[in-house]
Amino acid sequence: MSPPHLLILGGTTEARQLATALAARPDIRVTTSLAGRVAAPRLPPGEVRIGGFGGIEGLVCWLRDHAVAAVVDATHPFAVTISANAAEAATRTGVPLHALRRPGWSAGPGDRWYEADSLADAADRLPALGRRVFLTTGRLGLAAFAPLDGLHFVVRSVEPCEPPMPRQIETILDRGPFTVEGERALLRAHRIDVLVTKDSGGPATVAKLVAARAAGVPVVLVRRPPVPGGVATAEDVPGALRLLGSLHGFRALD
Ligand code: NAP
Repeated sequence: MSPPHLLILGGTTEARQLATALAARPDIRVTTSLAGRVAAPRLPPGEVRIGGFGGIEGLVCWLRDHAVAAVVDATHPFAVTISANAAEAATRTGVPLHALRRPGWSAGPGDRWYEADSLADAADRLPALGRRVFLTTGRLGLAAFAPLDGLHFVVRSVEPCEPPMPRQIETILDRGPFTVEGERALLRAHRIDVLVTKDSGGPATVAKLVAARAAGVPVVLVRRPPVPGGVATAEDVPGALRLLGSLHGFRALD
């Protein structure tokens, strides 16, 4: 009998870590799916497929055609479309779905955080907070900031930025993890007076928040969208392994 097939919806460090934790096991077949947004992605061990499924219908077909026994949605907390599609496809096929989501960040003493409901809300708040913005919300959301002609944006992104985007923009092509020292130097060098970030959570990109606190720079934090209702969610890889361990055919994973 062939081993049960687990599909990990990836694009995050945690997805890679989960694939790595399962890679050596002969009793489970793991495929990680990536969206294909990044030209040279960090590939996990095991099988990898790249590119969209073609909406809910496409994902339903993929789950059936590849005899998937369970799905772990380990996508980024802000990747709402694929998470909603996974929830609907799981309902239609009866394939068990779990989510792996790192916890969000929490403000501590000395932080000046302003929470925003969306990128558009974050853009609305900026003019009252500063003129030189360090924007780390990703290149795909730049359109929300395009109308802010009077502000200067330093945008950090893995891939080059494309319009629509703000007129005054400097791009730094880089990807985490980042250090507090490096982030402090960046804030100084670019005379940043406000930082915008999504509440992505996790250690790889938290250094900018530590640096902002030390420099007295205010932060606009875009709140997370909720995980689709009814999906059991783990905060880390051991938790995801425990969730999988409760499923038929995925016993004793932790
Ligand atoms: P999204 O808006 O939720 O998804 C848009 C479409 O991209 C989906 O409908 C799906 O296409 C495809 N897709 C997304 N993730 C996929 C995956 N893991 N495997 C196969 N297809 C996928 O997603 P997004 O916010 O653009 O993020 C894309 C990827 O980048 C995600 O995998 C996410 O984990 C990663 N990422 C996102 C962020 C962020 O801030 N949003 C940050 C870091 C990494 P079809 O409908 O054709 O299936």
